[in-house]
Amino acid sequence: MKYTSTRAAEKQVSASEAIVKGISDDGGLFVPSSFPVLDSQTIGKLLDWTYPERTAKILSMYLDDFSFEELLGYTEKAYSRFDGDPCPVVKIEDSLYMAELWHGPTFAFKDMALTLLPYLLTAAKKKTGVEEKTLVLAATSGDTGKAALEGFKDVEGTEVVVFYPSKGVSAVQRMQMAAQTGKNVHVAAIKGNFDDAQAAVKRVFNDEEVKRRLAAAGYATSSANSINWGRLAPQIAYYVSAYCDLVNDGEIEWGDKINFVVPTGNFGNVLAGYYAYRMGLPVNKFIIASNANNVLTDFFNKGVYDINRDFYRTMSPSMDILVSSNLERFLFEVCGRDDALIRRLYDSLSQTGRFELDPETVRAGIFEAGWADEEETKEAIYTYFDLDDYVMDTHTAVAASVYNEYNCETEDDTPTVILSTASPFKFATDVLGALGTRETDPFRAMIRLQNSTALECPEQLYGLAAADEIHKETIGRDEVADAVLRFVGADKTEE
Ligand SMILES: *Cc1c(COP(=O)(O)O)cnc(C)c1O
Repeated sequence: MKYTSTRAAEKQVSASEAIVKGISDDGGLFVPSSFPVLDSQTIGKLLDWTYPERTAKILSMYLDDFSFEELLGYTEKAYSRFDGDPCPVVKIEDSLYMAELWHGPTFAFKDMALTLLPYLLTAAKKKTGVEEKTLVLAATSGDTGKAALEGFKDVEGTEVVVFYPSKGVSAVQRMQMAAQTGKNVHVAAIKGNFDDAQAAVKRVFNDEEVKRRLAAAGYATSSANSINWGRLAPQIAYYVSAYCDLVNDGEIEWGDKINFVVPTGNFGNVLAGYYAYRMGLPVNKFIIASNANNVLTDFFNKGVYDINRDFYRTMSPSMDILVSSNLERFLFEVCGRDDALIRRLYDSLSQTGRFELDPETVRAGIFEAGWADEEETKEAIYTYFDLDDYVMDTHTAVAASVYNEYNCETEDDTPTVILSTASPFKFATDVLGALGTRETDPFRAMIRLQNSTALECPEQLYGLAAADEIHKETIGRDEVADAVLRFVGADKTEE
């Protein structure tokens, strides 16, 4: 299977090249040239398989320069870092389920792909004959950063650099990154919000002078954000896996359509679901849930994508995003793979901060979108604990709230899976607050949340209270390129 670019549809690269490069030179994102087909025979096999086997199978359909056995080796190693089943599907009410994607080493769903990406990237370099060291760059709204650091730490031939918005992440997210150990890890805060951090990192990817200096120091760049195909592809698997589990548990029969509700920021998670759907997974609706940064709600309802609006800091910081990178891949598909149109839309976005499309085209018959404010988010946490004894984090609660509203309006009783994207302990202060207890210290909040629920606080999170803060630097948003060069010693390279 070849990959093409959303902004240059004549381009053809292999899966390995797409993973090694992270982003296409023309500024577009790599997308598969077609969708492999998930027929009932394949699904039938997957039903009896483990999560690493299911993932290896799905990946082998996209990454045809990797063998199934090779991929299985990687998925088994990656998912052995999870505490039990990497994607348990928990029934919380009749026809309502949570797919918990946060049982990995950093307690957010980013681990589903970032535990695996280092294996894919290292192998892809071998397959394409790339001998340079890899500089893995990531901008993070909170959870990608830690997962990338944990995934790539001490990986041979790699340096990993993470930038996070100085005021845009929670105290626990910040400590997770600041305390990161490893010989090849670098972290800095950027003055600004996530969009500033993401834009600054994208500029580094397209800056010829920076690339030249990095090359002189022996580095090629790649991305740990979901703009990288190697980050997105593993996420397709949990949609298929959740479906298989519901079939195995007798909740649905193969062929029944289900809904997925997805707490959304950069559009990577829900896009992976759309790919699963295009492969043949029976889906009724994808419900895109946003917080007060509800650009996507407007876009899917009115067809207007407009980032000229206030940016809000919310209790679901990993979704405080206005420019959703992966929307570009989605638009490429629903606009008939018209690369010229994509170039026009994104030129318009960079010049005027907006573009417009027909909302029917955008919804593609299967998308719904809604948003929840802070009060509604808290109410969802409280209600689901009160009625179902289920404790959810703030991001998942945005999705639960949006689902409740959708359900009331439509009376759609299709079986529904909410993607649960983080451990409630990662956002303990706000979760506890929603349950009625004020505790501003995040570590005391973890203990109090443990004491008032049946859950156990992970030691890796509680232990951060006593961890050393190793990375303390804050830089301006114009200093990102310099920081990257300095971190890898490429600022001193002779001309
Ligand atoms: C990253 C993240 C999201 C948003 O996912 P996208 O792929 O960026 O849309 C939601 N919840 C949590 C906890 C996250 O870390």
